[in-house]
Amino acid sequence: MKSIERVFLVGGAVRDLLMGRDPKDRDYVVVGETCESMLARGFSRVGEDFPVFLHPETGDEYALARTEVNVAEGYKGFTTRIEGVSLEQDLARRDLTINAMAMEGDRLIDPFDGRGDIEAGVLRHVGEAFGEDPVRVLRAARFAARYGFEVAPETTEMMRRMVERGDLDALTPERVCLEMIKVLGEDVPSRFFRALESVGALRVVFPELHGLVGVPQPVAEHPEGDAFEHSMLVLDQCALLSKDKETRFAALVHDLGKADTPADVLPEHPGHELAGVPRVEQMCARLKLPNTFLTAGRLACTYHTRIYRVREERDAGEVVAMMRKLKANHTLEHVERLAIVGEADAKGRGEASAQEYPQADLLLGLAREFARFDALPVVEQARERGEVAGPQIAQAVSQALCRHMSRYMQLE
Ligand code: ATP
Ligand code: MG
Repeated sequence: MKSIERVFLVGGAVRDLLMGRDPKDRDYVVVGETCESMLARGFSRVGEDFPVFLHPETGDEYALARTEVNVAEGYKGFTTRIEGVSLEQDLARRDLTINAMAMEGDRLIDPFDGRGDIEAGVLRHVGEAFGEDPVRVLRAARFAARYGFEVAPETTEMMRRMVERGDLDALTPERVCLEMIKVLGEDVPSRFFRALESVGALRVVFPELHGLVGVPQPVAEHPEGDAFEHSMLVLDQCALLSKDKETRFAALVHDLGKADTPADVLPEHPGHELAGVPRVEQMCARLKLPNTFLTAGRLACTYHTRIYRVREERDAGEVVAMMRKLKANHTLEHVERLAIVGEADAKGRGEASAQEYPQADLLLGLAREFARFDALPVVEQARERGEVAGPQIAQAVSQALCRHMSRYMQLE
């Protein structure tokens, strides 16, 4: 196979190499070829909209250099041009300067000084075309989270304009979901939500989280500030404790119910636990999040204060009810996740943050004890007494289980 005339490594891989990180994937841009000549070389085409091909051996993506030509107002109003497009024109359609570099062998091609922006820690848009795709707002916020870079003032301005124009209404739930799940894998995910809030995008993309902005909390327990600030700290604490994305999501949403507290009871939040459940459901439905996220979020809302106070727990019946909901007799998955969310909740409180978290072991101890309970002898005894109806047996089991947990909790 005759080798391709000009191949350039582009985009994220160049950025990652310059930052000393391992590129996840390598994308290439090809100049001087056509769709036909790529197919003739054994590449296979992927995607109908763009001239992107897979290398027959490495599986890397090779794209013909392209530009996007605006043909109508707003999002999706563009078409792709490939004929006679140069590498520089291809780089110019990219979102941020740090993503608009190329390498040919060892030679860096950097028309927008992406390297300078990496060194300065700045996210800067390449050009006015940034405004043509609202996904770029999410991407900029995501890179802010990943690298801890500042968004350049002119880019912040551009993002704000896009929000004000209503461009973000065109974002699909799938895309928002995808970006959020990627963000949940970063070390300091709160930066994403903070970056969105700083340009007014949080209200549009994550209204449930935006509902926490400015919501007061009792100062002694929450010197960090409002319910949004608390949620951000809890999310980041959770990211220190667990890589599991459902767990991090649960930490993010555990206090959503605080948005619904009536003004006359603020800054207390009685009942915010259950109030959070429909909020989580609404958020998960809108973003079409997988059910594992929904379950984790609901459980975190419902039980986080119970776990926070588990040292003072005196109600074996409530513990039994909780462990049943957490399916603790089948799996410790939900219990362990809640223990982590609880720890993050206790540690995400500014100066009032807990140093230790004995609640985790207490909770897991309760869960193991619950799982250890053997219902069979109770069922047999109930039958011997002549109790044969289902509800009767269930009641006998529940009572025995509560007694079992009471003894463990040293309540009797
Ligand atoms: P990641 O490390 O998360 O993969 P990435 O920057 O490599 O980040 P990709 O989705 O792999 O992201 O895209 C590869 C490149 O394509 C980007 O670096 C950027 O140059 C360009 N790109 C991707 N999406 C957009 C977009 N919505 N607008 C403009 N350019 C984009
Ligand atoms: Mg990439």
